[in-house]
Amino acid sequence: MAETDVYIGLGSNLADPLSQLGRAVSALATLPQTRLVAQSPFYASRPVGPQDQPDFINGAVHLRTALLPLALLDALQAIEQAHHRERLRRWGPRTLDLDLLLYDNQVIDEERLSVPHPELVNRDFVLQPLMDLVPHLQLPDGRAIAQLREQCPDNNLRRLHPEPGNLASPGHDD
Ligand code: ATP
Ligand code: CA
Ligand code: CA
Repeated sequence: MAETDVYIGLGSNLADPLSQLGRAVSALATLPQTRLVAQSPFYASRPVGPQDQPDFINGAVHLRTALLPLALLDALQAIEQAHHRERLRRWGPRTLDLDLLLYDNQVIDEERLSVPHPELVNRDFVLQPLMDLVPHLQLPDGRAIAQLREQCPDNNLRRLHPEPGNLASPGHDD
C-alpha cells in the first residue's frame, strides 16, 4: 500500500472545543487505510474574521494514508458532519473544522480542494502546530514553515494542552 504523509488542521470554537478536537483526532486515527503518526499540542487563539464569537482551539495531526486527496477530503467532511457542523457564515463559529493542509509535496488546485491550504502561510494557529510536529517542514515551493511562522500576523496564540514545559506528550516522537 503506497502511503503518503499528510497534515490536517483542526479547529473548534463551540460545544466544548477541547473535547471536539480530542474526538476528531480519534476519528482521524481510525480512518480506513490511514495511521496517526503524531498529534500536536492544542492552542487557543483569537478568531479570524467576525470577532463576536468565542476564541478558537486549534491543533494539527500528521497522518500516513493511502487515501487519495479527494477521498481524504470526503472523509474529513464526513467527520465534520458527524460533529454536527453547520455552515452558517464565512469564518463564523463552528463545532469542528478539518482542513487538509499538506498532502505530501503535492500542489493541488481543484474546485473542491486547494493544497497546500491557501491560508496556511498567514495563520500562526496553523503554522505553530505544524512546526511542533516537524520543525523543519517545508512547503512544496521550498518555503520553511518556521520562517513563515515568524512573519505571520499575531492571533494571541496560547498553548493549552499539554501545557508548556510538559513535553512528555504525543507530537514529539518524529
Ligand atoms: P478557510 O478555508 O479560510 O480555512 P473554512 O475552513 O471556514 O475557511 P469551509 O467552509 O470549511 O472553509 O470550507 C469551504 C470549502 O473549502 C470546502 O467545501 C472545501 O471543498 C474547500 N476546500 C478547498 N481546499 C481545501 C482544503 N485544503 N481543506 C479543506 N477544504 C478545502
Ligand atoms: Ca479552516
Ligand atoms: Ca475548512
